[in-house]
Order: sequence, then C-alpha cells, then structure tokens
Amino acid sequence: MDLNDGRMRVQPPAGATYSTHNGLRVEKVFERDPLEVEVRGPRGSGFPTCPETAATLLKLISQRTQAWRQRITNTVGTPEAVYVIQETPSDGMRMFANKDLECGDLIIQENPIVLFPLEHVLSSKSPQRQLWLTLQNALDGLDEVARAVYMELPNIHEGDASELALGIFMTNKFEVYSTDDASDHSDRSKVSAAVFKDIPRMNHSCSPNVVRYWCATSRSMYVYAIRPILEGSPIVTAYCDPFLPTHERRDLLLNAYGISCVCPACTDSASDANRARIQNIQDNLAAVIQWALTPTLPDDLLLVPSLELLKLIEEEGLEGTEYYARVLKVLWYIYFVLEDFGAAGFYGRMLRAWKTANGVKKSDAIKEMQSDLELIQYTVNRRRMLTPRKGRE
Ligand SMILES: [Zn+2]
Repeated sequence: MDLNDGRMRVQPPAGATYSTHNGLRVEKVFERDPLEVEVRGPRGSGFPTCPETAATLLKLISQRTQAWRQRITNTVGTPEAVYVIQETPSDGMRMFANKDLECGDLIIQENPIVLFPLEHVLSSKSPQRQLWLTLQNALDGLDEVARAVYMELPNIHEGDASELALGIFMTNKFEVYSTDDASDHSDRSKVSAAVFKDIPRMNHSCSPNVVRYWCATSRSMYVYAIRPILEGSPIVTAYCDPFLPTHERRDLLLNAYGISCVCPACTDSASDANRARIQNIQDNLAAVIQWALTPTLPDDLLLVPSLELLKLIEEEGLEGTEYYARVLKVLWYIYFVLEDFGAAGFYGRMLRAWKTANGVKKSDAIKEMQSDLELIQYTVNRRRMLTPRKGRE
C-alpha cells in the first residue's frame, strides 16, 4: 500500500508529539521548531487607565490600518491567500476560505499579539488587579498598529472605555502552555495567556471544520482544515467541547463568549442523540484484532458499526475528534484484512491526512502507519492459517 503518494502538501514543524483533551482542544507539543519569533517583553505601563487615553486609542482604531489585509507581524507560515477576513452582516469581521481546502491543509500559523505567563496573576493575592497590570504592560510593548489591531478584536464584556482592553482580553484569550514539555502540562504555573490577531475571527461552530494546536517553542498557533472546505465557506472552530449536550453548550457559549450558536448541531434536535451514539458505538466496538483472528465471525461484524460511526461523525461534523482517527484506523485495518486494498488505501490516506492536520509530521505519520501495517500483515497471515480451506485458496 502506498502511504506516500504526495497528496499532503503541508508540513508542520519537526518533532511533533501530541496530547488531546476536551475532544477538540488539541494542544500539540514540539521538541524543536526552526522558527525563531521575537516576542516583545513588557515595559512600563500606561494603557487605558483613564477615559482620555482610552479615547485616543479608540481614535486609533478608526484609522483602520488595513492591517487585516496586510498580514502584519503575526502570521508566520500562513500560505498566501488561503483565507480572507471579511465583514459579515451580523457577526462582524469573520474568516472565510479563499480557496478550496482539503483535510490537512494549513490555514494559518500565527504568533499572538499578546502573550504572557499567567503564573503571577494566578498566584497574586489580587489576581484581577495583577491581570490588569500585566495586560497593560503587554499592550504598552506593542507598536501603534498592533495595538490598534488588538483594540479592534471582538469584545462581549460591557463596561466603560477604560475596561475595553480587559474585555477584549477576556473575550479572545487562549490559554496555552509556556513549555513544550508534556509532563509539565498539568502544572497551572506553566500556562500563558495568548491573544491573536486573525484566529479570533474564526467563528464558533459545534461542528468545526478545523483543528488547532499551540507550539510553545515557536510561540505560534497552527490551524489546519480537518475536512474539505469550499472557497467562500466560513472557517469555524469549536470554543467548547462539542460532546457536551446542546443545552450545556448553549449556556457555556452564551456566558463565556456571548454566542447564541445556530450551527447545524445546535438546531438539529437529533444531534444530541447522534453524538451520544458516536460515543456509545466507539465504546462498544469489539477488538478488531480478536475479530481478525476469528475467521468464523462474520466479515461485516465490525464493518457495519464502523461505517455507521464514520457516517455519524461526518454528519455531525466531528472529524476533528480522536473518534474519527480511531474509526479511520479500524476501517483501514478491516478492509486490509478483508483484502479490499482499494478501500483500505482510501481510509489509510484519510487517516494520514488526519494525522497531518493534527500536527504529526508526515514522515512520522508514515512511520506510525508502517508499524501498524506490520501488525495488520501479521494478523492477515495468521487469519489465513486459521481459515478453513474451503473458504479461501
Ligand atoms: Zn452549535
């Protein structure tokens, strides 16, 4: 089987390993990254502490800068013209695909405008005030254009103009690790806050069409297409765990982001049951090796639930979750055992594209799959030996 047919065009940085939590919140870890990115350190303070300063900054915003189109400072490895940010009638400035995209295509690699460790904030006796001071310092270190870009980001928190910067921060911040060492990721003191220029322009959907991950070494967030996205379609990411029931997602999104989600999952009354069924099938899918080594079991014993699982995941738009990778792997395996190499190759290529979209270097993805293939081939050989003669050669 050819795992190296050159379909994937985008390479993440070298040395990727990864961990996943919350279904879609996939934070990736890199041992090494060739990108050297200067991040301005804090110096001084003085961001809008009084209405006059805030008013001056608001004026800056109205100058507009055209920064969205100029891709200033922060988009490092984004292929040209992959996305555009456009005004929408109801949602402000939003990100759209500027060409047809396939699973595994890099949409954006972006450094934050603002990035600082949360350690001092979290350990402070007055975290709110400490956050305010730290944010002021960070913003004071920005040049005029970057500051104007920051002040244009969405803000769902009401308040006077002097609170604007904090409201923007609360609306748009991502919590990211300040280290790539996965063993430190349970340590809250290793968490930083990051605010990006373009990434917040991805709208939320409970059926996201991208996955994103953070690389601490290059201090950048990567966003990859996780299924085909047609030119002109919105690029959407999940701000919460898509496996939460609709009413819980609704409360969470409204409270945290001011979003009333009207995505297909939130408006389809069957979606909760479908999502529960995805988890249920996954949990009850029998061991594929055991099936392969028991030729007396029906050929379609695992194929039927696996194909149902695949269909449900695709209908629910949950290709970004680990469930999708698992079912692709099972299908790749099953078809190989059944000696339908065309179908096996199809699902194998999809699995490799998924891995690439999730930050696994192409050569590592191929290595992983070659090792899986050895196990499959061993199983196939054992199965042939166990199969009654009349059934096979
Ligand atoms: Zn939704």
